[in-house]
Amino acid sequence: MGRFIPLSIPNFEGNERKYVDDAIDQGWVSTGGAYITKLEQQLAEFLHTENVAACQSGTSALHLSLVEIGVGPGDMVIVPPLTFIAAVNPVRYQFAEPVFIDCDDSFCMDPVKLSEFCENECEFIDGRLIYKADRRQIKAVIVVHVFGNMADMAAIMKIAHRYGLKVVEDATEALGTKYTEGELAGKYAGTVGDFGAFSFNGNKIITTGGGGAVTANDPAVVDHIRFLSTQAKTDPHYYIHDEIGYNYRMTNIQAALGVAQMEELPEFIRRKQANFDKYARLFEGFDLCKLIPFRAGTSSNKWFYSLEINRDRITASMREIITALQDKGVQTRAIWGLINEQRPYFGSLTYKLEKAPYYAARILNIPSSTQITDEEIEYTADAVKQLFKELDNEK
Ligand SMILES: *Cc1c(COP(=O)(O)O)cnc(C)c1O
Repeated sequence: MGRFIPLSIPNFEGNERKYVDDAIDQGWVSTGGAYITKLEQQLAEFLHTENVAACQSGTSALHLSLVEIGVGPGDMVIVPPLTFIAAVNPVRYQFAEPVFIDCDDSFCMDPVKLSEFCENECEFIDGRLIYKADRRQIKAVIVVHVFGNMADMAAIMKIAHRYGLKVVEDATEALGTKYTEGELAGKYAGTVGDFGAFSFNGNKIITTGGGGAVTANDPAVVDHIRFLSTQAKTDPHYYIHDEIGYNYRMTNIQAALGVAQMEELPEFIRRKQANFDKYARLFEGFDLCKLIPFRAGTSSNKWFYSLEINRDRITASMREIITALQDKGVQTRAIWGLINEQRPYFGSLTYKLEKAPYYAARILNIPSSTQITDEEIEYTADAVKQLFKELDNEK
């Protein structure tokens, strides 16, 4: 068997089996049970927020946030182009239309371009932001904290308040990331905007197999989200429903996994941060690629590591690079394809996309599992450097 260093795999070194067995022994396996409320409490405490609703996925957390805002047919929602498509699809679930705004060097939404778009392309009348070209209302902005980095939320919140926009933070990749400096010091990703969505899918920093959670600045809104996520039972005994509900609640088996994972989260973050520093030392001064740092003034969970390929020297395609590294036993991946270039979004409105296509052609993610060993980190850095030297046009 050859060597294989996976990109990002789950880590079950804690009480996962014990708690899942317990949930099964008790017979509480579905959308009711003590582990669900326990996980919600752990998350609320960890994030220093009042109320958290556990749900079935990050996607459902985002969808319920848009439902709660009242995004509907004909509305517009500002979104990023360079992220996982699940951040944008819920806009379409509500029959609304996305507007794609560029990222900055953190891969997160650029507040300068966001502000320019609102100022130059829209009118703010009677508390509504109206897109001038077709008079549709822009109701919300979805900000993704890409790879555990954090967007410039202080700037984004000011713009949102100025134009009456609701802010949904997609913190699915950023559980545990927080500000350490500035006016938001101490605030966690997902707790700054009106809504914050989290994901516990298999490759996220903690996993429940599949799962997610949502918080909001208004605790009563979180209660309503929880109500909608369990089929909106106005009277659960006599099946009275006054609203359209969803089957979006997390199950107790998933939550049992989550409770164990939350116990380990601080250790997972510590390892991700330490491993990032090891990679940083190994790539220091190497001119064919560089390890992208996380935003200053934040403590990131450092979920995923990004190498920027020097495209002046290396013109090989992402496919060639990834396949060559795969052959050396190192699993890597390209950053996402731009969402506005995916078939369902052909023709969608875009605004000054420059950095997103720039980074889409250059970013390679390298192995970042919490179990990775020092030797594997060194092997990975060597494999990447050796390949890039071979591919260097100036060699
Ligand atoms: C993982 C992810 C989601 C979706 O979460 P699921 O739990 O898989 O539904 C949404 N947005 C981003 C940026 C993600 O990385």
